[in-house]
Amino acid sequence: MTDRYAVIGNPISHSQSPFIHTEFARACQLDIQYEKLFAELDKFEQVVAEFVAAGGKGMNVTLPFKGNAYRMATELTERARAAEAVNTLSFRDGKVYGDNTDGVGLVRDIVENLDFPIAGQRVLILGAGGAVRGVLAPILEQKPAALTIANRTLIKAEALAHQFAAWGEISATGYERLEGKTFDLVINATSTSLSNELPPVPYGVFTARTLAYDMVYSKGLTPFLKRAQSENAGMLADGLGMLVEQAAESFSIWHGVQPETRKVTNMLRDVLA
Ligand code: NDP
Repeated sequence: MTDRYAVIGNPISHSQSPFIHTEFARACQLDIQYEKLFAELDKFEQVVAEFVAAGGKGMNVTLPFKGNAYRMATELTERARAAEAVNTLSFRDGKVYGDNTDGVGLVRDIVENLDFPIAGQRVLILGAGGAVRGVLAPILEQKPAALTIANRTLIKAEALAHQFAAWGEISATGYERLEGKTFDLVINATSTSLSNELPPVPYGVFTARTLAYDMVYSKGLTPFLKRAQSENAGMLADGLGMLVEQAAESFSIWHGVQPETRKVTNMLRDVLA
């Protein structure tokens, strides 16, 4: 029987996960079925239970349910525990295994695909929401020289810096305190690009060797990447590679095979164009 997988969210129609997983499976010659599941905000647990009862083997979880999935998991990886969020569920032997592959996806895209080592670099992350919580541990594991989180609501950045202090050199700041400072890697993890806005980052944080990375992916440059370009940042990248790499890590958790990602990223770039 064909194994069943799914991505669950609300909304879910925009999700590219079925395309990505189907392409991975084709390349690895695996026979899987991967579908989109919509759940009403109060029906996440019910929809998951029905999927498992129907023989579902694994599920990707997207907004706004990563916290629900974290609470539902009976077994958690260390990175999922640190993130307090789960984007990959596996159902085996009556247990629910929860993992978070967002951070490893981001790190792999930056370090391997973009060939930009994070070790020893000064890293700035803009934003302090769920996406940031998910990526802090894997970034700090790369041993950056220092990691600064800037957020509009300072207290949220401070809470994250406090929570992840044991993982490495991390601090929090408001945007205004970034004036006069430069960074090697600047990651926009705010949701501003979704509304075509710019996070309030002051001029001067980019240098000619800075990688400017926007977690949001889009057809053209996001406002953040346009700003970085106007300041002659060394390299620009959006989050499409992260999306495909986090999916690849989920795929390898479920199937024990690490799929080739570059071709699928290129295909997806064409689909989105
Ligand atoms: P959240 O809603 O949890 O957090 C949003 C963040 O953006 C907060 O820090 C918020 O600041 C900040 N923000 C929103 N509007 C503004 C503004 N006008 N000015 C300054 N800061 C602002 O979202 P997530 O953390 O879950 O997601 C963030 C982004 O990352 C999303 O756009 C999402 O699409 C993307 N993402 C991409 C992934 C990929 O695979 N490529 C994976 C996961 C996420 P405050 O705290 O002050 O409200």
